[in-house]
Amino acid sequence: MKVIITTPSFGKFHEHLIEEMEERGCRVHRLIPYSREDMEREIVDADAWIVGLESADAKLLDRAENLKIIAKHGVGVDNVDLEAARSKGIAVTNAPGTNNDAVADLAFGLMLSTARSIPTANALVKSGQWGRFDGVSVGGKTLGIIGLGAIGKGVAKRAGGFEMKVLGYDVSVPAPDEEELGIERVTLNELLASSDYISMHVPLNRYTEGMIGKEQFELMKPTSILVNTARGGVIDEKALYEALSSNQIRGCGLDVYEQEPPVYPELIGLDNLVTTPHIAAYTNEAVQLTTEMTVENVIRLLRNEPLENIVNGVEAKV
Ligand code: NAD
Repeated sequence: MKVIITTPSFGKFHEHLIEEMEERGCRVHRLIPYSREDMEREIVDADAWIVGLESADAKLLDRAENLKIIAKHGVGVDNVDLEAARSKGIAVTNAPGTNNDAVADLAFGLMLSTARSIPTANALVKSGQWGRFDGVSVGGKTLGIIGLGAIGKGVAKRAGGFEMKVLGYDVSVPAPDEEELGIERVTLNELLASSDYISMHVPLNRYTEGMIGKEQFELMKPTSILVNTARGGVIDEKALYEALSSNQIRGCGLDVYEQEPPVYPELIGLDNLVTTPHIAAYTNEAVQLTTEMTVENVIRLLRNEPLENIVNGVEAKV
């Protein structure tokens, strides 16, 4: 069975898992650094693809003659054309619940960094200078969480320690643990109008694309801080640029962008924006858990056992 790996973090800390796949009869091809041209050649006779953020679009999948599984090394599957995979009988799986703590930590880190200008203050001291920055409190404020899944709830749990009031918006029916986490469900507009901090945790799909745009920024408090560790496309970046540059909102912390890279140049130049390069899931602990869950499905395919965490309704068979 030929397995292609295109995600650089897969196996980075766990070479033994790749050896284990090889011992079980897999021919593992690592296409790192990724090149679309190489992938177009390699995908033709591949049985399994362990994918990161690379595009698994219909044009590429059309070349695959044997592919049975696209195993996402992560949670968000917006880079995979689920329908094209389904029509070719290719199962798409992901690794839910493996990186929620890592992402929730970074969402909180971006909130604190933006509120207290930590990156700018750090750069100032390191350049041999000294100064003061106006800051705003995080503790005791109101946090609005958009998307109350594994990561959104992880953020709510952390907010408890900061004695924050937590508002939540989600399209699903409220889960029993939301009450224990102190989450009060409200409408999206109520959340936007009442929150001091707003944190995005929805998947990117046709319903969530651009869900925060000009109209939504108009509802936010001028003192509010927006954080996005979900996917860049859920925020209209042009509208975000307008909101930040006109101080319509106080600040923003971003881990994800519409284009990764290049990031919208005027946006990253703004002083009230704190940025990280899509690293929310990259803790050693989270990468290990994600890798183990992803390998498990490839081994299940090899043994002709039912796959877990299928997201496009296709049950692959060797
Ligand atoms: P999850 O599936 O557990 O939760 C997603 C939640 O969003 C669900 O409760 C769902 O009902 C809700 N939702 C879906 N559509 C919605 C809509 N239109 N409006 C409101 N709520 C909606 O997923 P998760 O593990 O919490 O991850 C959330 C997202 O975070 C992923 O889809 C992924 O894109 C992103 N993510 C980013 C990183 C990173 O490195 N920055 C890492 C992991 C995940």
